[in-house]
Amino acid sequence: MFAFRGVDYLEIDSLLNDQEKLVRQTVREFVDKEVLPSIEEWNREGKFPRHLVPLMAELDFYGANLEGYGCAGMSNVEYGLIMQELERGDSGLRSFVSVQGALVMYPIHQYGSEEQKQRWLPALHEGRAIGCFGLTEPDFGSNPGGMRARAVKDGEHYVLNGEKAWITSGTIADVALVWARAEDGIRGFLVERGTPGFTSKDIKGKFSLRASVTSSLALQDVRVPASSMLPKAKGLPAPLSCLTQARYGIGWGAIGAAMACYNEALEYAKVRKQFDDKPIASHQLVQAKFADMITEITKAQLLALQVGRLKDRGRADFAHVSMLKRNNVKMALETARAARDILGANGVADEYPIFRHMCNLESVYTYEGTHNIHTLIIAERVTGIPAYK
Ligand SMILES: Cc1cc2nc3c(=O)[nH]c(=O)nc-3n(C[C@H](O)[C@H](O)[C@H](O)COP(=O)(O)OP(=O)(O)OC[C@H]3O[C@@H](n4cnc5c(N)ncnc54)[C@H](O)[C@@H]3O)c2cc1C
Repeated sequence: MFAFRGVDYLEIDSLLNDQEKLVRQTVREFVDKEVLPSIEEWNREGKFPRHLVPLMAELDFYGANLEGYGCAGMSNVEYGLIMQELERGDSGLRSFVSVQGALVMYPIHQYGSEEQKQRWLPALHEGRAIGCFGLTEPDFGSNPGGMRARAVKDGEHYVLNGEKAWITSGTIADVALVWARAEDGIRGFLVERGTPGFTSKDIKGKFSLRASVTSSLALQDVRVPASSMLPKAKGLPAPLSCLTQARYGIGWGAIGAAMACYNEALEYAKVRKQFDDKPIASHQLVQAKFADMITEITKAQLLALQVGRLKDRGRADFAHVSMLKRNNVKMALETARAARDILGANGVADEYPIFRHMCNLESVYTYEGTHNIHTLIIAERVTGIPAYK
């Protein structure tokens, strides 16, 4: 394995400050030491590396851009760089951290009561508790507003019924943030593991994100205290705002997966020889692929950095984040496919990381708003006309 030195064609490092570079280097070393030596094995076995949960907590990965309750209070660019480096290791690991921070800690931080914050945020930040985010249902993915899960008030309690599908970390979560339709609209409930009527099971047979747990949740007459509802999360905009946080991190993360594939293909193409004992990197059609890959990675880096700087100034909104997620995940998937091709037959073997990244990115392309849905969000922003239905 070669030492990863980053991908920086346009001196983008000169746009980062020392603190940002330090955060990136810390995560880079963590991934080199703790993830890369074993990731292919975990991926092959379909095993989530649970032993990394406390190590990542020590490094402040969970809710890194949140303030208070023990959180690191990093800038959004620093947070993005964490996601980038983690996904250079594996999208599954980055997914775990995204869900924990952006989809569980963020909503509690943003919409929770003081009691909920005190109870959950330090535990989630320290990795003593794991969270999951239950929005998608078997019949409602791109259109979560159609959800069937119901919350019915009964005195000082709510009774929850419904099913959630494709939930990251579902079976390992100590607390599930479940979105359900109540009398006054969609509301979020913190449902603890072991609550009677609440069950979860893993989705087996995934070709993608194999080092991440993905589960179904079932709620059958689950009785939770009214105090488990997030008091300030009212209506669909609340879960959508959480998705904006997670999508922002994904936009950065995809760059990491792309960099890993690009680097692997470059190293390979310089030593693999075909025709007249010449490295395949010297053939023009292979060179064209590298020109495309590095150009697209560079554009993606600039896009992520600009959205990050805007977010740090409180100026990034969901439609900016849609452009970041849509462009960068598509770029990463296309980079992985091109890199796979450059490795020829070796590209399909898990001795190399490319096929794993490529398979992972198929999920990343679909979750957190599919590519199509982000197309519609961006187009709505510029035309003023929604075209979802
Ligand atoms: C590994 C993995 C982990 C996940 N983790 C979570 C999680 O932690 N929590 C959670 O709540 N969900 C999670 N999801 C679910 C994910 O968010 C959904 O899969 C996603 O929103 C898409 O929904 P769907 O799969 O039902 O596809 P559908 O909505 O059925 O879409 C299928 C296809 O139709 C297209 N389509 C749909 N509507 C339109 C339209 N109006 N215009 C054009 N095209 C359209 C889509 O773009 C897509 O190509 C996860 C998914 C995966 C694969």
